[in-house]
Order: sequence, then structure tokens, then C-alpha cells
Amino acid sequence: QIPPDLSVIHLGSATAAELIGFTPWEEVSGYDENMNTIRTYQVCNVFDSSQNNWVRTNYIRRRGAQRIHVQMKFSVRDCSSIPNVPGSCKETFNLYYYESDSDTATKLSPPWMENPWVKVDTIAADESFSQVDLGGRIMKINSEVRSFGPVSRNGFYLAFQDYGACMSLIAVRVYYRKCPRVIQNGAVFPETLSGAESTSLVAARGVCVPNGEEVDVPIKLYCNGDGEWMVPIGRCMCKAGYEALENGTVCRACVSGYFKAAQGDHKCLQCPINSRTTSEGATNCVCRNGYYRTDSDPQQMPCTTVPSAPQNVISIVNETSLRLEWSPPQEGGGREDVVYNIICKSCGSGRGGCTRCGDNVQFVPRQLGLTDTSVHISDLLAHTQYTFEIQAVNGVSDQSPYSPQYASVNITTNQAAPSAVSIIHQVSRTPSSITLSWSQPDQPNGVILDYELQYYEKAEWNSSLTRSRTNTAVIRGLKPGTIYVFQVRARTVAGFGRFSGKMYFQTMTEEEYNSSIEEKLPLIIGSAAAGVIFIIAVSVFIAVCRRRSSDRPESDYTDKLQHYTSGHMSPGMKIYIDPFTYEDPNEAVREFAKEIDISFVKIEQVIGAGEFGEVCSGNLRQPGKREILVAIKTLKVGYTERQRRDFLSEASIMGQFDHPNIIHLEGVVTKSSPVMIITEFMENGSLDSFLRQNDGQFTVIQLVGMLRGIAAGMKYLSDMNYVHRDLAARNILVNSNLVCKVSDFGLSRFLEDDTSDPTYTSALGGKIPIRWTAPEAIQYRKFTSSSDCWSYGIVMWEVMSYGERPYWDMSNQDVINAIEQDYRLPPPMDCPSALHQLMLDCWQKDRNNRPKFSQIVSTLDKMIRNPNSLKATTPLVHLPLLDRSAPDFSSFSTVDEWLDAIKMGQYKENFANEGFTSFDVVSQMTMEDILKVGVTLAGHQKKILNSIQSMRAQMNQITSVEV
Ligand code: AMP
Repeated sequence: QIPPDLSVIHLGSATAAELIGFTPWEEVSGYDENMNTIRTYQVCNVFDSSQNNWVRTNYIRRRGAQRIHVQMKFSVRDCSSIPNVPGSCKETFNLYYYESDSDTATKLSPPWMENPWVKVDTIAADESFSQVDLGGRIMKINSEVRSFGPVSRNGFYLAFQDYGACMSLIAVRVYYRKCPRVIQNGAVFPETLSGAESTSLVAARGVCVPNGEEVDVPIKLYCNGDGEWMVPIGRCMCKAGYEALENGTVCRACVSGYFKAAQGDHKCLQCPINSRTTSEGATNCVCRNGYYRTDSDPQQMPCTTVPSAPQNVISIVNETSLRLEWSPPQEGGGREDVVYNIICKSCGSGRGGCTRCGDNVQFVPRQLGLTDTSVHISDLLAHTQYTFEIQAVNGVSDQSPYSPQYASVNITTNQAAPSAVSIIHQVSRTPSSITLSWSQPDQPNGVILDYELQYYEKAEWNSSLTRSRTNTAVIRGLKPGTIYVFQVRARTVAGFGRFSGKMYFQTMTEEEYNSSIEEKLPLIIGSAAAGVIFIIAVSVFIAVCRRRSSDRPESDYTDKLQHYTSGHMSPGMKIYIDPFTYEDPNEAVREFAKEIDISFVKIEQVIGAGEFGEVCSGNLRQPGKREILVAIKTLKVGYTERQRRDFLSEASIMGQFDHPNIIHLEGVVTKSSPVMIITEFMENGSLDSFLRQNDGQFTVIQLVGMLRGIAAGMKYLSDMNYVHRDLAARNILVNSNLVCKVSDFGLSRFLEDDTSDPTYTSALGGKIPIRWTAPEAIQYRKFTSSSDCWSYGIVMWEVMSYGERPYWDMSNQDVINAIEQDYRLPPPMDCPSALHQLMLDCWQKDRNNRPKFSQIVSTLDKMIRNPNSLKATTPLVHLPLLDRSAPDFSSFSTVDEWLDAIKMGQYKENFANEGFTSFDVVSQMTMEDILKVGVTLAGHQKKILNSIQSMRAQMNQITSVEV
């Protein structure tokens, strides 16, 4: 009669027949409130005191429950309604339980008392009845529920203790609570029993329904003491290709023609136009033939196709320029990203067949990826037939197997005069003549008939004209020591081109001429106080110092003064031009460095710190060229105009070189910020650190191969009359094939106030890297290719010692003194004597006795061809020079003092323990001995070994003196 409860499991009811107990409990029939007959157990010994009447249930299995609920229906007679009842009359009874693993209870055991029985509660009636009628009359029925737990044995008994009430026990229902299996939040939760306490929460893990997936956290529900699920955590959603149905309890595959791209609650979508599915449960729809999607097109976007050809092309020719205009294609392929590419073909004069136009044709705004429907094309050849194809392409064109559709137009350019000559160089000069040469115009626009050269004395303005059939001219009859202004223009059948810009050249003075002949020595014109002097060394040498107008406002020399070299230049050989001889250094940048559009450059990561800003690696992808790795030097923001000029000067210098052992300039970015210099990428970075990281890893031949490369690069630079002035391993870059390239053409670090780098020591008129620099360059700034040769010898030493610091930790002043006293660096460990000899040649005091780079290259080539020549290492007794800068061993009385002096004091104990306590034994030490005393660091080994070598040399010297 208790209403059914879904969350309730009936363990069994105690029927009257099953109740076991003492009298006076009796099984009696009666009626409930609805006049149904019922069987009850009754007791009513209210007139006798000291009642203790027990009745218990039979054995009840626990079946996994931890908490047991007991519902009791009973009626109790109101004591006051019984006439003459004594005070011992009760209206309550007690409920007990007893746990047991098996059904072992008897009438006597467990004994009828609290403990072993466990009391659950004293139960009172809500309503007691006073209409006395136990013989079949109406009773008021109470219902009370109690629960207990945790229970853990296999089963239990319940007992009811009457201690003086007049009552009847009508029904007992025993049950536990559980949370039923449910599907909630897309997951199935198993049936879960409530916990031991009424407040317990029992966690249950859910399992996603088939084709559902958990969204981030594991999905859970908690079962409470009332058998109710609560606190849902996480959820499952149908995976891609499946949609939720039936209130989220089922994930069903998308039917054909529908797709679902991602996990989620949303429904399958119909395939967009021009696409279809290939199976049920589709996560995307594939495009029909001839239709495509780009990687960035969303899946719900229709598939698109390539555009049709542009329409209505109009061409307007103006001499050698052309404007093309067109209308967009009729069919855009269903996309909005149509752009245009221009293909230029020049069609040879009547010979049929067209070829692609060269790089020199200019397209504005650009040739490829035009978003507007017009383009301006210039620098075409005059009087030439061209075909232009205007291709329409969109985001999917590259997926189509067919070439883009295009509209084409044929045009013929007009006759046009040649373009202007861009630069005039001075080849040679005397007091009365100047020999000039110039480059052909970029756009000759036909056969050049001749050139017209116009010149005048700067102060006069009466110009003279002269004609030349070639691009050189000797202008005679000039005044000595006088500045002349020159301009040149080319002529074709179409007439004269424009004049070049004005260039200023000065004839020699008689004195200059005489001294150049007599002495054949370099001569510097200019004043050191008037600014920075840049030197170009050649056998006949002219340098004119460019002065900044701010230094001398009224100077005559504020104009462009070009000054060049003459002498034994072989024809066609290029000579380096100092960018600072341009009044506007930007012009030098324009002339020698290609401007790169920043959109072609992709910066990847910072790889170093340059003098002016970060150095990064990245990619350069220029139209029509394959993508290459590049190094990108940037100019940090907030630069001054001077810093920008100095920074870019490196590009103007580098851009003049083209040699496999010289770092190659790709170009510059100056039209956007930050300003950049882009060069080829050298994977192994600078040579000094590369060698230090790979100490002892290369064969001698590999090292000589590196040196050969550096020498070849230096030969090229010296042939171009370029003096590097800072040749050092740190300024050599190494690529992945171990090819070494000379780099670092910046000039600014030599400037007085520019850097705090201790490698560069302030000297009169600039900073100098003392350890790498020839004595004459340190003393009177005589920088030549021969001083570069000295530095090259130091680089050889750095390479052969795997990046050791030249002269170790001697001070700069000590190095200068030592060199002055003819000390030279000893051969590095295991260095072939032929190589050390070459170093010593480079370190000849008289610079004229040093080898030329061409000789160095051929010497190294011979060594590489004949590796046996590299076998011999320098025998110590033949050390050519006394190491005067090394400590004088006679001044040390103990080995400990010596170790302290060379800053190796930490090994004193080791030396002593191994018996190396006198100079006699120390001077005989071998590499094994050094290892034996526990010197394991390569740098320390070298230091000690070098000092021992000097020690031996000194001892030899002393011996030979004695002999
Ligand atoms: P620099 O300003 O030329 O001394 O460059 C600073 C540092 O950037 C160098 O020491 C190299 O480690 C690195 N670096 C410069 N140019 C390149 C290059 N072309 N390839 C690789 N690393 C470079």
C-alpha cells in the first residue's frame, strides 16, 4: 500500500507469519482505514509494568546496499484513553538491527538486548487512536521511515522492542536507494547505489553514446542519498559526421548529401553548391570535377572554379611605355579574389616566335597579383613588337590542371631616344688630361651611334663638347689642378638621350704628378681634421676627402667629387668605389644595391645582434625566382640619419662584389621600416665561434680548405682595390658546406665614438682591432692589402688553433710591444710547419715582403694537392723567434710561481703530486703528461703547452748563447 517508488528496491517485507518473538506479540486480523482486512502483530500489556517484548524479521540480504531504509506502518493506542491505566503505559517502541554474514539467528541468539542489537531509533506515533477497539474496529495507521548505515555484512535482521505500549505492527518495508541507469548530457551512466550516509554523493563516470565524444573534461554525475542524479560535470557531443537525435541520446551518421565538419550539437548541413558526399557520416563534401576549394575556404562555402579571361583590353603606347586597361572577367568562378598577372613576350623583328621579356621591363604597380584592372609598363625596347597576356587568376587557379585564361594584346613600341647614362668613372688623369669611361644607358633603345660629352671648368661655365664612338674618352688640353664638370649623353637614330647628371673631376697638380712618378707611393690628399678619410690603395693613388658642408660651409668641394684610381688596371676590371665619395650616399645605395619589396621577405627568427640592430634569418621569395634562405640585418628604430647612412654603406660596398668567397648581397629594403640589408644565409654563423664549438673536429685539409676560400675572397677584394681593414675569424661566415665567406664591410666601427667593443681600440683617427692589425696600420694608419695580409696570417692562426684568442690574454699594449720586438705567435698545437711558415710570411715587418693574396691562394692550393707537405709539424728547437713577451723563466724560482704567472695556479697541487716540480721536468712535459696532471680543458692545455714551448725555446736560446 505504500505507493511504488522508482528509486526504491524492496528487500522483502516482514509478514506476520515470519515474525518471530515472544508472547505477548500475537498475529491478529483487523481492518485498515479503508476497511480492508489486514494481518497485524499486536501487543497490549499496558497493565503490567516492566515489559520487554521483542519481535524480529527473518534474515534480509543486503544486496550491495550501504544504507538501509525501513518504513513501518503501525498503530498505537493513546494511554489516556485506557481507563485505570498505570503510569508505565507507553506510546512508543524501539527499532533495532543486527548484521550477520549468514542466517544464524535463533530464538535465543543474538540475545534480546541493545548491543549486540544496534538501536536505530525510538519510534513514536504521529497519531494514536483512542477509540478502543482491537477486535476489528477502525485504527489510525502511522507510517514512519528510518534509515541506518553503513552496513557491510551479507545481511541483517530488524527487531522491534515493545516496552509497555498497546500497539500493532501492520507492515514493514525494507529497501535501499539507487540512481537508475540514465542517458544524460550525451553519456550513459550505469545504475549506481546511494552511499552509506544520507548526505553521501557517489560519483559515476559516464560513457559517451556511440559516435559521441567527450568535450574537454571527463563526464561525471553524482548519485545522492535519495537515489537522485545531481551535479553533472562535462558533456559528450556527437563527433564530426554525426548529429544528435532523440533528445541527445543517439548520434546518427549524416545521411548522403549532408555533412557535419566538426564535433558539436549542431545538425548535419546540406552539401554546398558544386559539392557532394561520397559516403554516409561525411565530415566534408568534396568538390565536383572542375571545382575547388582553397585551404582557407570554409567547408560550408560552395566549391568554386577558375575565372574566365579578362575582357575589353585597351592598350595605350607612349614611346617605350605602355598602359594596359581591361574589364574583369565575365565569370569570376564564384570567388571574389580575382587578380591579374601580366605575361610579357617580345616578338622578334619578323623572325616569328616570341620570347619572354627580360627582367628590365618595369611594371607599375607590379607584374603579378594585380588587384586593379590596369598596369603601367615601361622600359620596353623601342620599335619592338610585344604581346601581352593578361591572365585572370583566383584562389583556386593553382589547383586547376589548366593554364589560366587570358586576354592578349599585341603592340609595337615607338622609336625612342636612349635613356640617360647613369655614372661616369675617372680612369686616369694627368695635369692636362682626364680619361673617363661610363656605362651604356640602361635603355639604349637601338644601336648607339656615339656619345656626346659636354664639359666645362667648374668656375667658368663655357662648355666644350666632344664626341666619342665608344664609352671612353680622353679629354686633353685641361688646366692642372682644376675641377671640371662633365655630362654625357648617348645618340641613336631616334636622336639624343638625356644628359647624365653632372660629375666633377679634378686634374692633377704638377706637384702631385711629379711625386706620383718619383715615389710611386700612395698619397693622401685631404686633411685628417676635416672628417673621415677613406682610403683606396693602388699604386698611383688619389683620394680626395669629402667634407661635410657643415664642417666648412663655404667649401668649393660640396659638389659631387668622384675620385678614382688609375694605374695598371686591366681592361674590364672593376674597381671598388667608396660610397662615401657620393655626396648623397643614398645614391650609392641605389646604384649598388637592389631595392627589395618587403612583401617578398619573411622574417623567421633572431640569430644575432649586429651593430645597428638585430640580425634575423628568414626567406626571400622574389617573383620568378626560387625561394632562398637569407640573413636580414635590421636598423633599429629611432636611428639618426647618420646611422642610417653608415648602416646602408655596408650594402653599397657589398653590392659591388660578386665572388663565391664574399658574402652575397641580395638587396636592401629602404622604402619601408625597418630598413634592412638582406644577404645570403650562412648556416654555421661566424667562423670563430663555429671553430670553438667544433674544437679538434676537422682534418688539416678541411682547415686548409677554409683558409683557401678566405684567401680567394681576399684576393678578389685586393684585385678590386678594396682594403678590408678588419679581417678576423669573427668576420668570416661559414655556410653548411663549410664554405667560408668574407663579410662585415661596415665602416662605422672604425669611427671614433661609435662602439665600446674592446676588440677595437681607439687610435688616432679611428678604432683599430689591435691583435689583427699590422704594425704600420696601428702606428700611422697605413691600411693596404698588405696590412690585410697580416690580418690574414692572424686568421690562419685562429683557424689552426680552433678559435683561440690571438696572443691569449696579453694586453693590447703588450701585443704591440711584443710585435715591435719581433715576437710572433707560435704554431698552434698540431699545426703543420708549412702553414706556420705562411703565417710568419704574412707577419713580415716590411709589408712589401708579405705575400700577395694571389700567392697565398696558390701556396695553399699546392698544399691541398700535396697533403704530404702538411705532415711535418714545427720542431720546437727551430722556433724562429724568441718569445720575448712570454714570461722570462729565469725570473721564476718555482713551478708554482710560473703557474701563477700564466694564470693556471689552480693546477699547482696536481703538478706537485705528479712530480713536475722543476723547470727541467716541466719543460719536457708531453700532452700525455698534461692530461696526467688533470688538465682536461682544451684552452688550458693549449695555454700550458704554449708556455712550455716558449720555455723550451728560451732554454735553447740560453744554451745556444752558452755554446
Ligand atoms: P654582424 O653585424 O655582421 O657582425 O652580424 C652579427 C651576427 O649575425 C654575426 O656574428 C653572425 O652570427 C650573424 N650573421 C650575420 N650575417 C649572417 C649571415 N649572412 N648568415 C648567418 N648569420 C649571420
